[in-house]
Amino acid sequence: MGRAKRNDGSNLSSEALDALRSSVSGKVVVKGQSPEEEYRPLIERWNRMHIKEANIIVLPESEEDVSATIKFVAEHNLDVSISSGRHTYSGPSSGYGLIIDLRKLRQVRIDEENMTAVVQGGCTAGEVESAAEAVGLRPVMGAVNATGCGGITTGGGIGNLSAQHGLVADNLLAARVALADGRIVVASDEENQDLFWGIRGGGSNFGLVTEFTYKLHKADPEIYSGFFMLPADKADAYFELMNTLYQDYIMKSNGKFACIGFVAAVGGNIAPGFLVWYDGPEEEAKKFVQPIIDLGPVYPGSGAHMQRHTESTDWAHFEKLFPPAYNRIVGTSTQMSYPLSADILKKTAQEFKAVVSRHPENLFVSKLMIDLRDYSKIASVPLDATAYANRREGCMIAADFIWDKEELDKEVMQAAKGFMSQVRTWVKEDGEQRGIADVGTHVAATTLYALITDGDEKLVSVFGPNIGRMKELKKKYDPNVMWDKWYPVDPDV
Ligand SMILES: Cc1cc2nc3c(=O)[nH]c(=O)nc-3n(C[C@H](O)[C@H](O)[C@H](O)COP(=O)(O)OP(=O)(O)OC[C@H]3O[C@@H](n4cnc5c(N)ncnc54)[C@H](O)[C@@H]3O)c2cc1C
Repeated sequence: MGRAKRNDGSNLSSEALDALRSSVSGKVVVKGQSPEEEYRPLIERWNRMHIKEANIIVLPESEEDVSATIKFVAEHNLDVSISSGRHTYSGPSSGYGLIIDLRKLRQVRIDEENMTAVVQGGCTAGEVESAAEAVGLRPVMGAVNATGCGGITTGGGIGNLSAQHGLVADNLLAARVALADGRIVVASDEENQDLFWGIRGGGSNFGLVTEFTYKLHKADPEIYSGFFMLPADKADAYFELMNTLYQDYIMKSNGKFACIGFVAAVGGNIAPGFLVWYDGPEEEAKKFVQPIIDLGPVYPGSGAHMQRHTESTDWAHFEKLFPPAYNRIVGTSTQMSYPLSADILKKTAQEFKAVVSRHPENLFVSKLMIDLRDYSKIASVPLDATAYANRREGCMIAADFIWDKEELDKEVMQAAKGFMSQVRTWVKEDGEQRGIADVGTHVAATTLYALITDGDEKLVSVFGPNIGRMKELKKKYDPNVMWDKWYPVDPDV
């Protein structure tokens, strides 16, 4: 039991590969055997730093295919990864062994009457949003609709509707899960409740979700959303506005107003901005963004307007900000308690600028995010109700360092770690001084959001007090640690 050394499949005989091919209806693509033009696109990842040359990629077309592939993995003790939207920061959907690539499992079925969506495990958030929007409903998904349902749901999932409806995982009603022995089971409040607990925040530790059933919400077709970009000389006022914006606007909006401060470092300056969403009519929305406009002048071409919800989460908006070549990324995050210290925010921005300034021509699309959303709905769920352990009413501070040159990988990764470690120290010291080290509803909640990390955090920082139960579940559902890519729990350690 426990973590065993797995093989990468490079020594599999042609008979074994033929047996795999004949056990599934979907494609089996093999490195060096399948045409390059078929193989290469399959190992592409949003974060190009995590492109790995997997030996075998299976593209299941049914649950039976998933099941047969898992049995093959177990039989040959293969290294295995699951890939859904391939949009993770830290690379757990990449590997050198066998990839179960869910891109062919993309059906969405909406039940308008019961307000639910039954979604196959390879769907993107956008596919669910579009299908729901067509009948006046909305799921809870993340800010960017290109992310896969697989990663965002099993890791927790925070979106612009989370202040009203909680995490993506909190809106999961049931799932069908392929276990390490290839069996497919239902996980819900009625069946396999322990597994249902584990897949809501425990990532891929317990199995591969072939189908999610989500709760949907009635909604107006449009939302007020956009970016407000502000001049560099307003940076100090910008950081000083954060507490007012949070306390007097966001927390008084019944969850309708969500806002993320976006800071770039351009030309040696701090360039501040806000991404906003208001889930209500424009006249109402304008009152909420007025303090941002008052900071002005707002850069021409930036600003918010009424748009379809699916338009507000469209990846195309974001792509304009990120040249496609700049896709080597490290994401790190921490959490700060309210009221925020403007002083720490300013120091954090300066430190962020210092890292970017080492290679400005490469790191200029990097961004610092100050997430001013109302987390009380998420924090109202008891910490032991699901595996997700970051339920607190803090402000997430996250940084994405983005570059394009492979030779900078090591240096930027290290700089990102050093940066976040410094910020965490400031936050901790400040919290201790003010006696607010932990003001979350749940005292023992963790202080990081595991979906925005470099993948290298301690397990206890990710799962907090839920780690013990995670280990029990791992023993039951994956004792040989087949699923070992995203914060894998070892039942024996
Ligand atoms: C541009 C961008 C914007 C983002 N915005 C947000 C946001 O607003 N809110 C937020 O919460 N997060 C956000 N994230 C983080 C994102 O939610 C995670 O990176 C998530 O893991 C992506 O899921 P994926 O399926 O696309 O990733 P993949 O790389 O395919 O998989 C990621 C992990 O999930 C596991 N997994 C995938 N599918 C399944 C499945 N069916 N069953 C079991 N395990 C599975 C994989 O094994 C892997 O460990 C963002 C990421 C990016 C790149």
